[in-house]
Amino acid sequence: MIDFELTDEQRLVRETAREFADKEIIPVARENDRNARFDTDLVKKLGEMGYLGSIVSEEYGGRGIDYRTYALIVEEVGRGDSSARTVVSVQTSLVCSSIERWGTEEQKQRWLPRLCSGEALGCFGLTEPDTGSDAANLKTRATRDGDGWRISGQKQWISLGNYAEVALIFAQTDPEQGHRGLAAFLVPTASDGFSSTEVHGKLGLRASDTAELALDDIAVGADALMGEVGDGFKVAMSALDSGRYSVAAGCVGICQGCVDASVAYSKEREQFGRPLAAFQLVQEMIADMVVDTEASRALVWRAGFLKDTGQPNTMETSVAKLYSTEAAVRSANNAIQVHGGSGYVDDYPVERYLRDARVTTLYEGTSQIQKLIIGRAVTGINAMTP
Ligand SMILES: Cc1cc2nc3c(=O)[nH]c(=O)nc-3n(C[C@H](O)[C@H](O)[C@H](O)COP(=O)(O)OP(=O)(O)OC[C@H]3O[C@@H](n4cnc5c(N)ncnc54)[C@H](O)[C@@H]3O)c2cc1C
Repeated sequence: MIDFELTDEQRLVRETAREFADKEIIPVARENDRNARFDTDLVKKLGEMGYLGSIVSEEYGGRGIDYRTYALIVEEVGRGDSSARTVVSVQTSLVCSSIERWGTEEQKQRWLPRLCSGEALGCFGLTEPDTGSDAANLKTRATRDGDGWRISGQKQWISLGNYAEVALIFAQTDPEQGHRGLAAFLVPTASDGFSSTEVHGKLGLRASDTAELALDDIAVGADALMGEVGDGFKVAMSALDSGRYSVAAGCVGICQGCVDASVAYSKEREQFGRPLAAFQLVQEMIADMVVDTEASRALVWRAGFLKDTGQPNTMETSVAKLYSTEAAVRSANNAIQVHGGSGYVDDYPVERYLRDARVTTLYEGTSQIQKLIIGRAVTGINAMTP
């Protein structure tokens, strides 16, 4: 059973995150989007609020909160700006939660306190130019060199890649082993041979940093390996279980933002001598957004409940991710419609919501990949490869 009753502490966390989004994120979102500016001041504030690495235990600098409480924070940040939400999701779910789960004590001590405080950023380097959905098929190579390793390859579409101090890099150690040859490495980005290039021209998420990484024969010590050789695929999949949840929670925020903006606008704007909100066809669009918001939130909370109670949740997380991301795209599209021509310019947040929502059905596993995960879970048949 899911306990839908929030505790007093969770209500307080939500209220604080809502105020933070209203006061610190929303006022700068439009300018950051227009200027494609990765807002390092805002990143600093997210760190100060404890919103980076919040699910990490307190002994490593996190807040030790549960997944349901984490979703409340991510929803509010996502309502404010998906670019800021991407920082929270990548840093917390993809990087910190992986280090906490798979890292050695030394790796945790070295990286987690600085990542949780926002003093350092981390990035998650899985995707490559030739390898997206087929994530096990990596070309980046890690070869043994004495006690350590040498890593060469390229990574594509890496969020925070130009600002990160540490990159969680997935590489193949033995191509004959397939996904059993993969390994995960914590690579300091100051290493010789590491370079990054900013990706320009994105449809949305313009205030988020996206990079192409070149890894040119980077030498790392044995202490860079996270988990065992052969654990790389498991590390990536467990990170995505947390990352997809975070993306889904952020999309609940987009849906809620669409409802809020559309209710306000439709009550204020009049046509035919009546507020737009008085027209049944306008109310239908708003009702559809409300249903999408509520359904997404319930699915996210269910996945969070399963995570918090230590139950299997890969399929339920995919259901939440698939539904919420598609719901955010639908809701943003509806919200633009409610706003008419005004919805097409950035005086209102709804056109940014649509542009920003669009990537969420692509990254951390496309909608098609989520359907294949769900289909595999219920049929027992893997349709990922024909
Ligand atoms: C802004 C942005 C930020 C990102 N951040 C990161 C990051 O921080 N770290 C990281 O590692 N990656 C990141 N990514 C990469 C992202 O996860 C990939 O783009 C995504 O996994 C899809 O891979 P692809 O782009 O290569 O598409 P492809 O895998 O080439 O897929 C293209 C199309 O084919 C479909 N398809 C593929 N295989 C199948 C199949 N078996 N059955 C049915 N349909 C299929 C897909 O669903 C899709 O519609 C980011 C991407 C973007 C755009």
